[in-house]
Amino acid sequence: MSSEPTTRRPRSLALRLTLWYSGIFAISSALAFAVISALLVATVQDRLDEDLGEDVAEFAALYHSDGQARVEHEMRLDTKGDEAEKSFFRLWGRDGRLVLATDLSAFPELGPPPEGVFELAGSAEPVLETLHLPRRDHPVRAIYGAISRDLVLEIGESVEDTEEFVAALLRGFVAPLIAFVLLGLPAGWFLARRALRGVEDVTRTASAIAAGALDQRVAVQGEGDELVRLAQVFNAMLDRIQALVIGLREMADHLAHDLRSPLTRIRAAAEMAQRNGRTDAPELSLAATATEECDRLLEMINTNLEITETESGAADLRLGDVNLAELVRDACELFQTVAEDRQIKLTAALPVYCWLRADRQRLQRVIANLLDNALKYTPPGGQVTLTLVDEGDRVRLTFEDSGIGISSEEAPRIFERFYRCDRSRSERGNGLGLALCVASVRAHGGQISVESTPGCGSTFAVTLFRR
Ligand code: ADP
Repeated sequence: MSSEPTTRRPRSLALRLTLWYSGIFAISSALAFAVISALLVATVQDRLDEDLGEDVAEFAALYHSDGQARVEHEMRLDTKGDEAEKSFFRLWGRDGRLVLATDLSAFPELGPPPEGVFELAGSAEPVLETLHLPRRDHPVRAIYGAISRDLVLEIGESVEDTEEFVAALLRGFVAPLIAFVLLGLPAGWFLARRALRGVEDVTRTASAIAAGALDQRVAVQGEGDELVRLAQVFNAMLDRIQALVIGLREMADHLAHDLRSPLTRIRAAAEMAQRNGRTDAPELSLAATATEECDRLLEMINTNLEITETESGAADLRLGDVNLAELVRDACELFQTVAEDRQIKLTAALPVYCWLRADRQRLQRVIANLLDNALKYTPPGGQVTLTLVDEGDRVRLTFEDSGIGISSEEAPRIFERFYRCDRSRSERGNGLGLALCVASVRAHGGQISVESTPGCGSTFAVTLFRR
């Protein structure tokens, strides 16, 4: 916990957007890939069917011009050598008799043509079918067409070549597709981060404001888009809130100013009554209570006004060379009796010298307030330790106690004026001490932070920078 603003990046949203972009991109690519594959397979198959149809027509023309012997010659020529592995021809009579066939050893368990093929008229469209032969790895596309009044030609062609061609084409697609999807991840991350940069600015400003820097504004770059409009609306809202807060503060300060004089007069009157009245008069204790209450109110008003002055920079710092180690040592000596009364062990780990330019009186009050709190909120038997570390360009002074601690919900609020934690309301105090400490330390360009565990204790750390 700290009095200083903390910023967090909206990492998860950027990550979620990136995953969404990449997921949608991967799914659409896979769909496009599936559609392209289906179209490719269909086109290649159509092409094969067309070729087979043209072959039947050519053989029919050959039969008419040169007779059956020429047809047989051409069939043998087309299935010579390796071609016998990929295609075959069979010539059927209309009565279902096999007239001739090329080498069928590569096409075992080849059945007869389907019913109806023998009734095909000469001009009828050929019949096509796909044969799945048990001992072949690839199916065979077969065509049956009439080449004369008596003969039906069957041509079988393995689809091995076309399947391999399609597979090779698809393989060529897969690698770039995977590369695109993988490239999509950093690209999506970059785009999401770019889009969210404006939101991050708003978040950063809101965090700074939550920590008290009400004069911060979101930088408005460009014009027109949603984020720029968000920044403009956000800044306009801040202007309004700041005006309201300043108005409220001014009113409170005027009120405090105006109350100071009548209170001082009431206090003087009560003191006079105490001095001039009879020592045994019952009004005497009332006058004493009135004086005490006036003192309490006046202290509250004065501290409040001092915080306003310090925050606004109106109160000049009286800078001089200060040995911070000595200030802390003096404070420890001063509070030693209080610590002993409360049976608290007060110790300090300090160097002999720790020089820096600072306002001596203000630092004394900061140390006294923090030490007073540490003792006040630590039960008897506890321990309070002050440590001063000189880090060269900065010094760090910590107040560690084994006291009641502060809950994580209340910790961010303890530096506000008049805020007191529920568990500590029974102790004396007005809730202004820490607000004055923050104002004084900030006026020196330093910062205060707190870490605390309820029931175990708290550590307040003051960091001052050497100018
Ligand atoms: P107060 O006059 O009430 O002590 P402060 O501004 O000094 O006012 O502190 C604000 C509140 O912070 C206190 O009321 C208390 O609840 C809490 N606090 C401050 N210091 C400590 C501490 N060392 N241990 C526990 N609570 C603390």
